[in-house]
Amino acid sequence: MNPFSYKNGEFFAEDVPFSDISRQFGTPTYVYSKQALVNAFQAFSAGLSDVDHLVCFAVKANPTLAILNIFAKLGAGFDIVSGGELARVIAAGGDPSKVVFSGVGKTSTEMRRALEAGIFCFNVESSSELERLNTVAGNTGKKAPISLRINPDVDAKTHPYISTGLKNNKFGVAYEEALSLYKHAASLPNLSIQGIDCHIGSQLTDLSPFMDAMDRILLLVDELESIGINIHHIDAGGGIGIRYSDETPPDFTDYAEAMKKKMAKRNIKLVFEPGRALVGNAGALLTQVEYLKLGEDKNFAIVDAAMNDLMRPALYDAYHDIVAVKRKDKPSKLYEVVGPVCESGDFLGHDRDLSLDEGDLVVILSAGAYGMSMSSNYNTRPKAAEIMVDKNQCHIIRHRESIESLFALEKPIP
Ligand SMILES: *Cc1c(COP(=O)(O)O)cnc(C)c1O
Repeated sequence: MNPFSYKNGEFFAEDVPFSDISRQFGTPTYVYSKQALVNAFQAFSAGLSDVDHLVCFAVKANPTLAILNIFAKLGAGFDIVSGGELARVIAAGGDPSKVVFSGVGKTSTEMRRALEAGIFCFNVESSSELERLNTVAGNTGKKAPISLRINPDVDAKTHPYISTGLKNNKFGVAYEEALSLYKHAASLPNLSIQGIDCHIGSQLTDLSPFMDAMDRILLLVDELESIGINIHHIDAGGGIGIRYSDETPPDFTDYAEAMKKKMAKRNIKLVFEPGRALVGNAGALLTQVEYLKLGEDKNFAIVDAAMNDLMRPALYDAYHDIVAVKRKDKPSKLYEVVGPVCESGDFLGHDRDLSLDEGDLVVILSAGAYGMSMSSNYNTRPKAAEIMVDKNQCHIIRHRESIESLFALEKPIP
């Protein structure tokens, strides 16, 4: 199912024309398809139904409450990276006992809150964090369930900014140190070893790096077992890619099958932390053309969305498909689709073949992951509204920010 498609020359989200959304809610606006979110979660889980598993949506990909709530109702767990995300999960009706807590810089306060909430597991990323967690757990009178995030040192073959499984980055524990660190963890009184995890990168379009990582992790699992440390779950992280233009990301079922095969007869729960794969293609950014600026070398379509709304093109040179809401007969031109922010890096797409007039609406596709969640108020621009479409219904799930709210916490000195 494609949640975003043309019907009679007009672009729709499920059964709602984007032009209606613009009339009702203005632009720029993030638009999500409920059906697409449900389908993605169910497709991801389908191949795992015959094994003990937990699918933890990576909240940082899109933390809006309504989205977390849809996944919570489907039985999802959540992968969080801050105390703020834990609070969101709880506010959205998520079950803390299905939460894994990742991240290299967990504070003592965040650890305490997570212990009190009773999360499923802390994914510990360093020996210092192990000590800190042991102390905080002791003070709280709780035992902290832990897993060590291991750096399997495999090449994820993705953009350097989103590759996290190589030796020389800030994430995880070096493979060579894993065994001694597990032994040390086993000696600490307030920790309870539950699992092992890795997360090798994002937007991976090939299964082989996942399988290479699994081989390395399973070697460790067996070594740990031989010294009496039993692993109850393996968390394979997130990172499954989506189709932005012509990528062919792995099929979820193929991934599940390959993972199950690797696990062979081991009686170990499988945990996953998909972010992008569950929301990326379930969201789009609706924006209006303010000006067309035609030049000798380049034509610019200046739209009312910008890098503060969708940072991926500026940050990673990422490609997002851009379509016009109304198909037209008039001849098309190649446009640089840019925003109004005062940075040359403020572009949303290069060389896009579009047939446009000023005032037209365009939709930037595949914007459901790392879109709204990475947005900012740069240039004192209020963050976009967010809408969830459910068949022929539109629900506002986050109001457009008001300009006053952007400086409400500020004041001049006397
Ligand atoms: C970002 C992140 C994820 C999600 O990554 P996707 O590429 O969106 O699937 C999962 N786990 C950890 C630890 C992360 O940092």
